[in-house]
Amino acid sequence: MTITMPDRAEHCSVTALPAAELERLVHAAERPCVAPGADPDDWFPAEPGSGYQPRARACYESRALALCRGCPVELECLELALVREGPVRGHGISGGTTPWQRQAIKASRGWAVRRG
Ligand code: SF4
Repeated sequence: MTITMPDRAEHCSVTALPAAELERLVHAAERPCVAPGADPDDWFPAEPGSGYQPRARACYESRALALCRGCPVELECLELALVREGPVRGHGISGGTTPWQRQAIKASRGWAVRRG
């Protein structure tokens, strides 16, 4: 498998890149989620229901890691999802993370996060 790395701004943290640049980098890369034969719906599996479901959540989290493993723009994709979603909980798998993991990342950064 050939992995093509997109142009990256030298010495610039992914977290400092504007959304437009993140989007450009993500869309320029050869991504598993848009590779020939990939089903984009795989990145949007049914989420565990509300309530305490540690096993279902762990399965979903493992799936997220497996689907995005080897993606050359995993960090950029994650950062873009965080920025795009803002305080709202998103859907599906982005940057190897689940929606609830992204909410936790936002909260850990001190960003406003809507529950639910
Ligand atoms: S990290 Fe995952 S969702 Fe994001 S571009 Fe790569 S494969 Fe697609």
